[in-house]
Amino acid sequence: MAKKYASARDLKFLLHQVHQAEELTRLDYFAHLAPADLDMMLDAAFQIADTYYFPYFADMDRQEPEVKDGTVHVHPKVPDVMRATAEGGWINPNVPLAEGGMQLPEMLVTAGNFIFQAANNAVMGFPSLTAGAARLILSFGSEAQKRTYMDRMYAGEWQGTMALTEPQAGSSLSDIVTSAEPVAEGVYKIKGQKIFISAGDNQFMDNVVHLLLARIKGAPAGTKGISLFIVPKKRVENGQLVPNDVQIAGIYHKMGQKASPACHLMLGEGDDCHGYLVGEANRGLAYMFQMMNDARILVGITAAAIASAAYQASLEYAKERPQGRRLSEKDPLKPPTLIINHPDVKRMLLLQKAVVEGSLSLLLECAKLADLAHAGPAEQRQDYGLLLDLLVPVAKTYPSEAGIQAVSAGMQCLGGYGYCKDFPLEQLYRDIRITAIYEGTTGIQSLDLLGRKITQQQGRGAWLLAQAVAATAQQATTYPALKTYAAQLQSELQRLQKTTQHLLGLAQAGDPERFLADANLYMELFSLVAVAWQWLKQGVAAQQALLTGPAATDVDFYEGKMLALRYFFHYELPKTQGLATRLTDPEAITLPLATEVLDIG
Ligand SMILES: Cc1cc2nc3c(=O)[nH]c(=O)nc-3n(C[C@H](O)[C@H](O)[C@H](O)COP(=O)(O)OP(=O)(O)OC[C@H]3O[C@@H](n4cnc5c(N)ncnc54)[C@H](O)[C@@H]3O)c2cc1C
Repeated sequence: MAKKYASARDLKFLLHQVHQAEELTRLDYFAHLAPADLDMMLDAAFQIADTYYFPYFADMDRQEPEVKDGTVHVHPKVPDVMRATAEGGWINPNVPLAEGGMQLPEMLVTAGNFIFQAANNAVMGFPSLTAGAARLILSFGSEAQKRTYMDRMYAGEWQGTMALTEPQAGSSLSDIVTSAEPVAEGVYKIKGQKIFISAGDNQFMDNVVHLLLARIKGAPAGTKGISLFIVPKKRVENGQLVPNDVQIAGIYHKMGQKASPACHLMLGEGDDCHGYLVGEANRGLAYMFQMMNDARILVGITAAAIASAAYQASLEYAKERPQGRRLSEKDPLKPPTLIINHPDVKRMLLLQKAVVEGSLSLLLECAKLADLAHAGPAEQRQDYGLLLDLLVPVAKTYPSEAGIQAVSAGMQCLGGYGYCKDFPLEQLYRDIRITAIYEGTTGIQSLDLLGRKITQQQGRGAWLLAQAVAATAQQATTYPALKTYAAQLQSELQRLQKTTQHLLGLAQAGDPERFLADANLYMELFSLVAVAWQWLKQGVAAQQALLTGPAATDVDFYEGKMLALRYFFHYELPKTQGLATRLTDPEAITLPLATEVLDIG
């Protein structure tokens, strides 16, 4: 069942045949779910997306939010989206039953988010930020804070945000200066400004709950002096909502994702902005990392979902647009062929398919690791968590960077029409670009991968990944159609390990700049191997299905999987060679400090 923005068939293949999602229902924590519930939830998500998200995708882009009388006015359908998402249980799907949630596995939450994002990625910011902010209160807030905020947020009545960025503190959160001065037990006066705060305000919500980082006066410098606060737009006093001195200075006029406003907030201009400390003082960044890790995976999902919508649209177009003749056809009087028959167009479609389905598989792998780290066998939870930690920056970055290329290829398939507003490609192209920037740029994710995650716990995460890749390759060798790809993946893994050793040698030699200078290229190399692993997993599942005699209607689906796998191994994976060559090249091009030579006058 192909939708216009995402394939339910593919989601179910990935969930069940590749990643065995139903295994989770055998764990105590998910015992309230039957395997059949998983598909029912997916179908319900598609219904919400079809009704409330997809129809307004273009209109929400055309009717940008605007500030009127100090309030941000967003598209009139935003409250319907919030209500439907909340009523479907998708604001708190993974929250424990005892706290009013559905206690769903992250795998299913990932699949649901993918559906909503593919249907209308920009409006999804409203429910998803509310979900993340409420979860932060659930994890670290006091009982009183939970009672005050969570129910209203889960009901979609109060908006949640994540308020980190300041004019001088974007990538470097250690430079945050928004201040907090104690006025009563757990209550602080907040002063400062936050910029780019997504879904930071709108005319429909009774309240906006900012989960905000600030520095308590006298706290240590750097990340060790940052605390987490709840700073509502309206605070509760004697059961009434009263203004809390959070002003909207303006909104940014963005390239894409226009449905959700990115707000500039002024806090405490009138010396009357109260913030409520969450958890312990000075532990704010550690707490926020929970939301940031979730948000990083969510950005990966956003990117894969946008690329999915682009793939669906360009595939549909390529199957209908006649233009030119086959390379082998010399007769100009013959009718033109459909563009899908041109090898170059087929290549661009395969690139998109390989990126979308490879990314989604990696994201579901991460989601399953999160589920197992939380609810799997106790003695293995730490390892699941370590492997997840290693993969988070990759799961954010690969779908974003490769997704941008994929959507660009989708636009290219439409020729000039791709550049026009009559088709969704131009909007999708604008929407996806932000995914490589927010939630930690690609540069920052790459520093995290090479500078921190690879060596975490004496490299145990990397070792676990190597074991998992080897196990998939081993399984794949039993299928003749996959033998060479299994061997190729093993040798690519060795190339990655050798390159990693070389770079770690630079770090051990006391040259951190050389070690990390090309971290982005390392991320690219690492991602190609990680996604090849995911394609081989999909190949195994496709081979298993093909050998057991699938229904005639399914044969094309599995053959399509094999074609995309072959595309990935023949067109994408060989790029590792150039990357490894550069990463081990002794020539340091970007290090010299003489930046004036870049000035062309
Ligand atoms: C549409 C939108 C929505 C957003 N939503 C939110 C939100 O809801 N909440 C929130 O708190 N923030 C939000 N942000 C802010 C976003 O997270 C930041 O823009 C992002 O983290 C980058 O910070 P910056 O813009 O200050 O860029 P900078 O940090 O100035 O980075 C500029 C460039 O320098 C590079 N760079 C910076 N430091 C280093 C380094 N140490 N080593 C190597 N390279 C480096 C970066 O990779 C980047 O390429 C949003 C931004 C946008 C545009």
